[in-house]
Amino acid sequence: MAAGRSRLSPEIDFDGIGKQVGFLRLPHSVHRSAYGWIPIPIVAIGNGSGPRVLLMAGNHGDEYEGQVALGKLIRELDPGAVQGRIIILPSANFPAAMAGSRTSPHDDGNLNRSFPGDPDGGPTAQIAYYIESELLPRVEFVLDLHSGGSSLTYLPTALMRRPTDPAKFERGIDMLRTFGAQFGCMVGVGWGEHTLTAAAARAGTAHMSTELAGGGQVTPAALRIAENGIRRVLAKLGAIETAPPPAEPPPRLMQVTGQDYYCYAPEPGLFEPLVELGTEVEAGTPAGAIHAHDTPWREPAIARFSRAGMVVCKRVPGRVERGDCLYHLASALER
Ligand code: CA
Repeated sequence: MAAGRSRLSPEIDFDGIGKQVGFLRLPHSVHRSAYGWIPIPIVAIGNGSGPRVLLMAGNHGDEYEGQVALGKLIRELDPGAVQGRIIILPSANFPAAMAGSRTSPHDDGNLNRSFPGDPDGGPTAQIAYYIESELLPRVEFVLDLHSGGSSLTYLPTALMRRPTDPAKFERGIDMLRTFGAQFGCMVGVGWGEHTLTAAAARAGTAHMSTELAGGGQVTPAALRIAENGIRRVLAKLGAIETAPPPAEPPPRLMQVTGQDYYCYAPEPGLFEPLVELGTEVEAGTPAGAIHAHDTPWREPAIARFSRAGMVVCKRVPGRVERGDCLYHLASALER
């Protein structure tokens, strides 16, 4: 990790009592504001001793259900009902969230590919550095709420990196069940060492994330899952006393173990989906036809699935480039 102290300064005291709201101030000197700062909303709710939890959304700015759910939680949660400390960072890459974009308009930074960050880097690298060096070490558990964003939509899923330790694996399964999305998924394939998942592992902080619908909209059904799931997780950790009843039906336990679960566009063109979310497919099942609208007399290229599984994620926009993800699968969890 780059040496040095973060330039972000919080307006709130993380060790304070009660509900504190304010901003992380990220110094940002630009044409229209010489001595300005970017105001990243942050909330801490503390009451006595107990678990320490970080709730995050807006890691990708165009993933909205988590951002809305955490805003509701901030307004509704009575500090007297909390045991311990809950830190809430509802729009983590705030410039991206205000732009309704996956990445930051300042530096094109994808926060979830920017860890461990850099205290001397652009705004996104500085936010990553603050989260990894200041927030993750303060907590025992982080819940990072994602959705499919503008380009993908999901069947609601809670996910975590598959632990190698058997006891951690069982605790993980318990937590995936507790969240109560349609699926609970153990993921054995990663996006490298620059994600929040990797940052949490480095900090020794337990981590769970979600993929809640998406498609660049707020899906009411997924929002309910997020709201209930957050409270169930907080109750499970002992940070609040009462929670909604367990999800019915209980989540189906799934896994993603390799790149062969992902299906990509073989050509640029227009994506005609040939399967929908929830479909069970075999290796070789046609996934999508990619129509060459620059040479429409050519037959479309057919994308096929590389393996069997259930379609849990699907691309939304019709226009694709070669290499765009069209779908990904999950399969039944193998212990
Ligand atoms: Ca995401």
